[in-house]
Amino acid sequence: MERRAHAMLFPFPCSGHINPTLKLAELLHARGVHVTFVNTEHNHERLRRGAAAAGLRGREGFRFEAVPDGLSEEDRRSPDRTVRLYLSLRRSCGPPLVALARRLAEREGAPPVTCVVLSGLVSFALDAAEEIGVPAFVLWGTSACGFVCTLRLRELRQRGYTPLKDESYLTNGYLDTAIDWIAGIPPVRLGDVSSFVRTLDPQCFALRVEEDEANSCARARGLILNTFEDLEPDVLDALRGEFPRVYTIGPLAAAMHAAQGSGHGGAGPAGLSLWEEDAACMAWLDAQAPGSVLYISFGSLAVLSPEQLAELAWGLAASNRSFLWVVRPGLVAGDRGADALPEGFLAATRGRCFIAAWCAQEQVLRHRAVGGFLTHSGWNSTAESIWAGVPMVCWPGFADQYINSRYTCGEWGVGLRLDEALRREQVAAHFEELMGDTGRAREMRRNAARWKAAAEAATAPGGSSYESLGRLVEELRLGDD
Ligand code: UDP
Repeated sequence: MERRAHAMLFPFPCSGHINPTLKLAELLHARGVHVTFVNTEHNHERLRRGAAAAGLRGREGFRFEAVPDGLSEEDRRSPDRTVRLYLSLRRSCGPPLVALARRLAEREGAPPVTCVVLSGLVSFALDAAEEIGVPAFVLWGTSACGFVCTLRLRELRQRGYTPLKDESYLTNGYLDTAIDWIAGIPPVRLGDVSSFVRTLDPQCFALRVEEDEANSCARARGLILNTFEDLEPDVLDALRGEFPRVYTIGPLAAAMHAAQGSGHGGAGPAGLSLWEEDAACMAWLDAQAPGSVLYISFGSLAVLSPEQLAELAWGLAASNRSFLWVVRPGLVAGDRGADALPEGFLAATRGRCFIAAWCAQEQVLRHRAVGGFLTHSGWNSTAESIWAGVPMVCWPGFADQYINSRYTCGEWGVGLRLDEALRREQVAAHFEELMGDTGRAREMRRNAARWKAAAEAATAPGGSSYESLGRLVEELRLGDD
């Protein structure tokens, strides 16, 4: 009898990791893999209280479980809660994961766990998988170029590019130094390799964590990426020199869509959003002309200063075009949301602006009214925009967002880049250019349509991502046999 694979998936507990891992879980389940999706107890409770509760009930062969994250209430309120969460999980989460896998093995009706799938930042779970005695796979949530650049942070440090000697290096042109020796990556600015090169601190915690976490993927049986072969052929080629088993299964949003369309997709994504989605923005979009709206969002983590928010707001106001802007609580330092918008802004943009605290972004990007996306170039957002065929204005600020933005504007030809120091004049000019009818705008739209078609082809039956997912399922099924 064919052995049924049972994947235990454990993402780092934040939206940017949970969402893609959940999509992967759905795709595996649709291909016959038994799935246990592990949340932290804190998020599990949060989801249980919200609109996502229905999705948590699970289905045959798809269960949710929870393990403690070890944080105190004081840790949760701290500005460095993400660092505390990272350290706490490392310290205390391995044994509960092992115990959970053992409990699952004793449960009737479920096959024993045959593999662990983790996201980035939870490499401690590689040890847990070893203890359970099953192979581990890492779903690294960035582009392939983002992953390779993160891998090379150690070499950048060893070669003396980072940490920077002093503050002046941030503005004296040093970040424009060409880096032309990363295999698979075209010559790029040092500043675009990663945000982490900007540190002045030789012990920089974030830099060390990133390089350690990326390099620890070498211990996993396979690396899973939310990208597709045609999008990043050179870098994937180079990566396979180091990582023999790379599974490119993206864009995940497209793969989910294709799976549902073909009846291959089970019940579809559980929609476990940690935030409540504003449904009214969809009705507002319905009333707008095709391709006329700029959608603006900076993901789940970015924090802007009040000055940056004001430059952005007045730049958007100056353009006279319509826009839908996600201003989530916490977007501005001090946990503030829409109340941080500058005085007079809402009056100045009445009738052509919709402010939402959070929205169903994939649906928004696929809405016919949306013609552009002003984004922080987080990888999930970028991949969703590529799938939706929407050109972007990029304003990166953290981690892999710089290299994503470099590829979006350079290699893929679907974006315009804002300077690091936001200026309202440039915001207005890029808004106008992206949505207007210049030759450049038309070319970006043509490229975006091409990438949309390529993403759809990759995730359709017979496409590269579809086939790659099949190979992954096969590998999960084999386990350690
Ligand atoms: N997102 C959403 N609604 C919003 C804003 C963002 O559903 O109003 C989702 C978006 O679709 C994406 C994720 O949040 O899947 C953000 O991930 P990304 O990697 O772009 O950025 P991060 O939050 O990790 O910085």
